[in-house]
Amino acid sequence: MSAGVPREFGELIARLKDGGAINCRDCSDFLMAYLDKELDPQVCARFEQHLTRCSSCHNYVETYRQTVRLAQEACCPKANPHLGKMPPELVAAILASLGRAP
Ligand SMILES: [Zn+2]
Repeated sequence: MSAGVPREFGELIARLKDGGAINCRDCSDFLMAYLDKELDPQVCARFEQHLTRCSSCHNYVETYRQTVRLAQEACCPKANPHLGKMPPELVAAILASLGRAP
């Protein structure tokens, strides 16, 4: 599989390069390619332009980024040196809130 924007985006990219507007649906379609930095620079600029104007898409992208980061931290102890070093009192508090004695 070669890097780049999937074929199904071809029509959309052509439309955007033609001066067409990007909408919220386009944003969700492009999100993965955008975060992987696979978007055509021209399309990427249009995408970011939409994000500056559309708070819901902006929030969507931020939430997605944060989720990816948290997932990486959770899966990679090197990215999160505090993992496995939870203070015993915190563990006790969590267990207590679950209704179990430590
Ligand atoms: Zn939007």
